[in-house]
Amino acid sequence: MKHIALHWSRPIEITHGEGCHLFGPKGERYLDFAAGWCVGNIGWGRADVREALVKEAERGTYIPPFLLFSPWDDFAKMLCDIAPGNRLQRVFPCASGSEAVEFAIKCARAATGKEKIVSIYEVYHGHTYGAASLGRNNGAAIAPYVPGFLKLPMPHALHGVRAEDVLEKFAQMVEADAGIAAFMTEPVWSNAGSIVPPAAFLPEIEKLCRQHGVLFIMDEVATGFGRCGKLFASELWNLSPDILCLAKGLTGGYATMGATLVSEEIFKKTEGIPSYSTFGWLQTDFAATKANVDVLLKEKLWENAKTVGKYLLAELKSLEDLPCVAEVRGIGLLLAIEIVRDASSSSPDYEKLSALCDACAAKGLIIEIAGSSLFLSPPLILTKELAAEGAAIIHEVFRSYGACPSPFVALCDGRASRAPRDPDGQDGEMGTLRGSE
Ligand code: PLP
Repeated sequence: MKHIALHWSRPIEITHGEGCHLFGPKGERYLDFAAGWCVGNIGWGRADVREALVKEAERGTYIPPFLLFSPWDDFAKMLCDIAPGNRLQRVFPCASGSEAVEFAIKCARAATGKEKIVSIYEVYHGHTYGAASLGRNNGAAIAPYVPGFLKLPMPHALHGVRAEDVLEKFAQMVEADAGIAAFMTEPVWSNAGSIVPPAAFLPEIEKLCRQHGVLFIMDEVATGFGRCGKLFASELWNLSPDILCLAKGLTGGYATMGATLVSEEIFKKTEGIPSYSTFGWLQTDFAATKANVDVLLKEKLWENAKTVGKYLLAELKSLEDLPCVAEVRGIGLLLAIEIVRDASSSSPDYEKLSALCDACAAKGLIIEIAGSSLFLSPPLILTKELAAEGAAIIHEVFRSYGACPSPFVALCDGRASRAPRDPDGQDGEMGTLRGSE
């Protein structure tokens, strides 16, 4: 492909999907353990969504945000009703996760009159400038970033970062700096490699936010809609965010849509901020999204994610005996296998990761890479049988290469060509307490 600008794509062509499978132009069949990266929660080719799309296409009308379409309001109310906590009452419509995060940043600044937002260093929050500045450092090539973002390290015992130290650092920040508008992170750190926070960490952060008049924002773009075994991963820790960002599983991959949920109080203070999204909640996208959420709620797919996720994690756990596997972890159907150079080193091995990923694809299993880990986020309709089939392929790939010698490139005839996710070597600085960026 010579004209489409996609730096990250792999040489795997897909024509369509059905359930938990993707298919290529020559009839290749792949078990999909990525689901478009936490997108296709209800699986592919669902008839309910297709019918809703066809029906809506017949309307053939674009209704702009400066006019009204009453189903928008019904859907917004439903989102507020199912959202975690008890604060969220208004919904800003938009077209993607990055946009949802941008609105969250704008709302936090407008509602508090303060500039600074605290986030966790290794978390990805999107590709637009605000979201990229808030999230993981995306490299020097696009600097300077938007000012006003302070970063904390990610607590993770494996990397020697203690939650108590991060909490202490945050407490010092909010006590010393009256200019902090909000704290924002994910309830489970998806893109960092399915890292589950210690249970008390986010409740303690929320408590500090409440004590210091700092808004508490959850980015559930990846974790929302059942991924972590609850409808929203914020429920795992009983969080009650002031602002919530949604996309990905909201649409199931059948549409481009996002949403930023805010409290009534925040909404009242956002008059006049730029919040107009031309294609936010476009009629066909909206119909597909609504049908997707209806299916997810009707089938309570978070329950299946919890059961089958537990099973899949248990099936993979023994990989930790290999010297190149530092940890097999995750929650629900958000799992990861962290790969290191060898048992004595915690350094990531991007060649090995890429080669393992490609070897799985060669055996008909699509998985992805997140940070220094193999990343697994299958559709939430995954059965135990399909989980076992995928786990068997992963075991076979690791078994074929024994103790995972490095370099791993020989594994797939030199096809381990994907660039590391961290080309500037700026990501994932572990074990240090970062004050600010
Ligand atoms: N937030 C999180 C946690 C994400 O994982 C992503 C995308 O991967 C985004 C925001 C950005 O979403 P989008 O790619 O729809 O702009």
